[in-house]
This record gives sequence, C-alpha cells and structure tokens, in this order.
Amino acid sequence: MKSLICDVCKKPIPSPIKDRNYFHIEHRDLCEPCKDQLDLTLKPVLRAKQPFNYGWYQRFVMDSIDKAVGKGKF
Ligand SMILES: [Zn+2]
Repeated sequence: MKSLICDVCKKPIPSPIKDRNYFHIEHRDLCEPCKDQLDLTLKPVLRAKQPFNYGWYQRFVMDSIDKAVGKGKF
C-alpha cells in the first residue's frame, strides 16, 4: 500500500486506512494527531456557536485546515 503525506505536518502516514489512521477532510489528508488537534481547536468554537449553522461550520473547518496547512501545525 502506498503511504500518504499529511497535508498539515507533512509526515508520512504508513499503511493509511481512511477514518482510522488518516482523515480526508475538505480535500486535505490529515494524520491522526493532526485530526485530534483539529478537533481540539474546533470544539470550543463550536460549543460557543449559537445557533449552529452547517454552512458556517464547513467554512470554519476549511479555514482552520487551510491555516494549519500554511503554518504546518494547528
Ligand atoms: Zn499530520
């Protein structure tokens, strides 16, 4: 199986299995530690967002990932 490179930390993901040790979100591939970090980053913002709006959520996730890709971390 080919290995995959995480778009955020640029580390290779050996034997990638989708939704198990890597996550494909908004056209990006994230390794598990980066996905965990994304969840931690999103959680407090999501909790504070009232009322919840799915379009806003998708944009917010995309922006957060794009920023992380630019910085190389969350
Ligand atoms: Zn990563």
